[in-house]
Amino acid sequence: MLQRTLSIIKPDAVRNGFTGAILAEIHRAGFRIVAIGKQSISKPEAEGFYAVHSGKPFFDSLTGFMSSGPLILMVLEKDNAIADLRKLMGATDPANAEEGTIRKKFAGSIQENAIHGSDAEETAAFEIGYWFAGYELI
Ligand code: ATP
Ligand code: MG
Repeated sequence: MLQRTLSIIKPDAVRNGFTGAILAEIHRAGFRIVAIGKQSISKPEAEGFYAVHSGKPFFDSLTGFMSSGPLILMVLEKDNAIADLRKLMGATDPANAEEGTIRKKFAGSIQENAIHGSDAEETAAFEIGYWFAGYELI
């Protein structure tokens, strides 16, 4: 089933110069880039995006990190996009990520882990709508 997911190349990966290499992995895996933009986000914007984690001990640190520099926001499309991107990303903690995954190759820590991908259809719909307007998704 053709599906869309929200992905972010996180500030650590942008800062480290991995944007192009990560986009190449995404391309090679067969995703179509529906929309893309480089942007710096505020701490409140990061807090709204990660609201589901607001009770977690790492919430303040995570939202500080996400607002620490430019990131790449993308809407990606392919069959089974949500699960396939999660597989391509690898485990949250790069120490546990499988060989060949984006986090294994490009992430430095459990927080600064290079890439985000929506984890379910409902979260993908929320996350895409959070960052993109309908006219940007044609
Ligand atoms: P993402 O939602 O970014 O795609 P994920 O679904 O693999 O990653 P979540 O459990 O949703 O992981 O956590 C969201 C993000 O919060 C992680 O990607 C990571 O940047 C950060 N994070 C998760 N767990 C920790 C932790 N124990 N310490 C610090 N940061 C964490
Ligand atoms: Mg998540």
